[in-house]
Amino acid sequence: PDVSKFENNIVTSPYGDCDLHDMTMVQKVFESASRWPNKIAMECGITGRKYSYEMMRQLIRRFGSALTRMGYKKGEVFAIISPNIPEFPIALYGASGAGMPVSLVNPTFTAEEMARQLTVVGATVIFGVAPMAETFKQVARLCPTIRNVILLGPPQEGTVSFQQMAQDSGDLFNENLDINAKEDVFLLPHSSGTSGFPKSVMLTHFNMSSNAMQFLQPGGTNHQIATTNYQDTYICLLPFFHTYGVTLLMNTGFQTGAKLVTLPQFEVQSYLKAIDDHKPTAMHVVPPLATLLAQHPALKVESLSQTHTIFCGAAPMSVQTSVKLIERLKNPNLSLQEGYGLSETSPGVLMAPLGNTKLGSCGAPISRSKAKVINHEISDQALGPYQHGELYVSGPQVMKGYLNNPKATNEMIDEEGWLRTGDVAYYDDDGNFYIVDRFKELIKVKGLQVAPAELEDILTSHPAVAEAAVIGIPDVQAGELPRAYVVRKPGMESVIDAEIQAFVDSKVSSHKQIKGGIEFRSAIPKNNMGKILRRELRVEYAKYQDSN
Ligand code: AMP
Repeated sequence: PDVSKFENNIVTSPYGDCDLHDMTMVQKVFESASRWPNKIAMECGITGRKYSYEMMRQLIRRFGSALTRMGYKKGEVFAIISPNIPEFPIALYGASGAGMPVSLVNPTFTAEEMARQLTVVGATVIFGVAPMAETFKQVARLCPTIRNVILLGPPQEGTVSFQQMAQDSGDLFNENLDINAKEDVFLLPHSSGTSGFPKSVMLTHFNMSSNAMQFLQPGGTNHQIATTNYQDTYICLLPFFHTYGVTLLMNTGFQTGAKLVTLPQFEVQSYLKAIDDHKPTAMHVVPPLATLLAQHPALKVESLSQTHTIFCGAAPMSVQTSVKLIERLKNPNLSLQEGYGLSETSPGVLMAPLGNTKLGSCGAPISRSKAKVINHEISDQALGPYQHGELYVSGPQVMKGYLNNPKATNEMIDEEGWLRTGDVAYYDDDGNFYIVDRFKELIKVKGLQVAPAELEDILTSHPAVAEAAVIGIPDVQAGELPRAYVVRKPGMESVIDAEIQAFVDSKVSSHKQIKGGIEFRSAIPKNNMGKILRRELRVEYAKYQDSN
């Protein structure tokens, strides 16, 4: 291998440096609104209600003004707990324009899960949709920092109406509010990082706008800038509460003047109908959706004849699925582009080249990013091509840190700004990366995070459970599923798995349920520091599967 290509075995981006800037995210979206005022920015894939870029700009101003009028101040945290709807960016940018960092919460969470996240960030206001009013009331009871619940939909007692806030009641919006793009936080998604409980990730305006600029540079995502006669169309099914959904679609989509068609939940028929109705030019998927597109008999293949890119990320995509999809769509202009990133990197870092030349790889570092592979069991030096180790990345998109958690931040980012990803990877002679495994505890179900620590905590709160360990096991449909190993308390041997399963399921959202089964044991493997050896359980499970 030509190691000289990679000085000190640090793989730098093969692409030119993109511009970076200090604008706030609101200034950026307003700039787009001035370029494409009359183009549709957002459209609901179910009801058809839509907003042009100019309407969106106006509504962002009104919503932000209303928040200021309600007494909200710079630095107070705004929480969005909403499915994908066209009003999502209005609330997001409106709050941001009022100086409020925005915490993104999964709307399928239970009230307890929501409250836990909002307590970590100290949220003061929730935005969501009217059918969730009852859940929000419970959340507000559990999380006393919440002063208001804003609802889209019919007015409800004790809540604030989004529609009311969207009326023109005097402009208090100041898009030049004193915001330090490098220091002030734009988004607070949740991620468990390499270990432990979910934490709040601080992504600054600079982190996020840098990632948008990196995506627009050659070697980034393949989005086309809107012209008089052309506009990219995306179907936004991937949830906006996850960095992949929110940035790739909203941040990057708005930078190119695209039309974003939102779908509030996954439902095969409405997904396929939206594809047929809107003929998307670019698709953003996670591996289970790629499989669906590759196989589902009801997909009208010709609906994707104008699609120039299918972008897949958030979990590993199999080469077989890629090949099947390309063969099925028979679209010579289509690139299947795999990308890699983390909530902690705003989220993009690695991106495969266009033209389907490197299937199975998530590509090289995007503009202004670097990557290296280290195996600490061998040395602290970066490894050369084809050697497996932990992937480290750096660039302007690396998070500021975890909110109120300097210890976790320091474990994740070193003094030189390298972020340890917790993923096992190698790179080839051309500096293209392959993710092969995960060191970290994290489980990904359909691209969504599940933190073993959170499930172990719930398991051990069951009166019959003495100890518990949770791992991810492979699953064809979901990618992975959580599986629990449980030690029962003495005298509790009659308590069966279904009982414990029902207990956990009642406390967590659907993707966290222990669908990989519960196994009873007499002990959980641990090292002498008491740390659970999840890897041992994973290896054992794989051996058991192989032998059956
Ligand atoms: P999240 O913060 O939820 O985006 O999760 C980040 C994690 O998802 C990474 O650390 C990887 O483990 C996994 N991931 C993201 N993209 C890919 C990919 N293209 N291939 C394999 N794993 C991925």
